[in-house]
Amino acid sequence: MSSDLSIPSSIRRFVTGESPAMLIDGAHVPAVSGETFETLNPATGELLAHLPAADTPDVDRAVAAARRAFEDGPWATMKPFDRQRIMMRFADLVEANHEDLAILDTLDMGAPIQRMRGNLRRAVGMARFYAGLTTALRGETIANSIPGDFQTQTLREPVGVVGAIIPWNNPHIAFIWKVGAAIAAGCTVVLKPAEEASLSALWLGEMLLEAGLPNGVVNVVTGFGETAGAALSAHPGVDKIAFTGSTATGQAIVRAASSTLKRVTLELGGKSPNIVFKDADLDLAVPGAAMAAFINSGQVCSAGTRLFVERDIYDDFVSAMSAYSQSLTVGNGLDATTQLGPLVSQTQLERVTSYFAIGRAEGAAVSSGGERLVEGDFASGYYVAPTIFTDVHNEMRVATEEIFGPVVSVMAFDDYESVVRLANASPFGLGGGVWTNDLNKANRTVKALRTGTVWVNCYGQMDPAVPFGGYRMSGYGREGGVQHLDEFLETKAVWIQTH
Ligand code: ADP
Ligand code: MG
Repeated sequence: MSSDLSIPSSIRRFVTGESPAMLIDGAHVPAVSGETFETLNPATGELLAHLPAADTPDVDRAVAAARRAFEDGPWATMKPFDRQRIMMRFADLVEANHEDLAILDTLDMGAPIQRMRGNLRRAVGMARFYAGLTTALRGETIANSIPGDFQTQTLREPVGVVGAIIPWNNPHIAFIWKVGAAIAAGCTVVLKPAEEASLSALWLGEMLLEAGLPNGVVNVVTGFGETAGAALSAHPGVDKIAFTGSTATGQAIVRAASSTLKRVTLELGGKSPNIVFKDADLDLAVPGAAMAAFINSGQVCSAGTRLFVERDIYDDFVSAMSAYSQSLTVGNGLDATTQLGPLVSQTQLERVTSYFAIGRAEGAAVSSGGERLVEGDFASGYYVAPTIFTDVHNEMRVATEEIFGPVVSVMAFDDYESVVRLANASPFGLGGGVWTNDLNKANRTVKALRTGTVWVNCYGQMDPAVPFGGYRMSGYGREGGVQHLDEFLETKAVWIQTH
């Protein structure tokens, strides 16, 4: 498990045990309390950095800076072209530094470097897409029917100060996704990265400043969810929370946000169904279904973790998928041959391995994996084998609860009606997959699934221009696509009497 990569000088200050500062109002600052917390490399358990542990006073400072930047300009009054120029410069910086950003995120949260490098197109593409949207803000002129001469129109205005709370599973992508749309709309931001992986957010915040973003437009506050995150969600100076994370935390955020009725978008968890019909191209469907669940070691909100396979092909499918899973290379993400890295933390390791016991106790069979990996170098990191549970029922905990590890629960089905019913029998509705060569069946299934995304004969593709989000308990709102801007805009109706 040796790593091929040495640490580039650009990121050394983040990963050699030092104390990188937070970014508030364009300045590098420690926490008001002086407290720090440790962030570790999940591949080795080694210390990377001590990060400022922000709490209410730090959030107060950051929100005040964002409020000043919103109200006093120049961001809110800048012309779209000028905002766009800054955001395009930011995109160039992301592009120029992407290899080092990829290494930083791999060190911080464990994902394979190959996967992180593969984010280049999307990371830069998103930054440019949102830069483009700065010039796409528009309202309407509406014909009204009241007596007299009244002209009616709508203005779209930025919602104000945004609290952005992001998870650790794809850190630099999550940052660009959240911040890009918010600032394109003219908002200002206080971003809190996840405590497990905050480093790239600090660097990206610096890149925004280097690109010319005015001080205070984007502030980065590091700290725990229960303290810094909770303070941001309840803060009366925050107009909107844009959150990605677990459903339980989403519910806590809605409760906290209700005190001031701030706007909320939520991109939450899932237990996404993936349906393989017997007429599917199995050469595609076997690895496709495995990676739908295992990619990023299963730490993906839209992972296809409930796999429904038509009974006629069930046994063959399970053995082919088990063989494929056992061929996957698990290891340190810095190794270019690694396909699955460690889990992000000891907490996640305990959570995921607890489901190995839960599934067995519920009567599911394990056809592959089902254990922590502890041999040799694995012992100091948080590694588990990709795991396939078979003989699962849709009511078992391994089929209803989001595990957020490389674990798939496989169920056999007999007909179209029953599989659609089972697929929709979940409180979540984020992703879904269908594998078939029958176009009509594919289309019917696409319409029948109550999920925000359906992939047909593929799984997990994402693009800046395509909206993403959940039905039901997977969240509110859509991110990506032109409509993402709407999440950061208010609509003002204007009546003008003319004569
Ligand atoms: P996980 O279970 O993987 O930690 P979370 O939903 O808890 O997922 O974390 C996602 C993000 O939400 C992180 O940035 C985390 O710090 C933050 N967070 C956690 N708890 C809260 C909370 N009560 N209020 C606001 N943010 C929170
Ligand atoms: Mg948490």
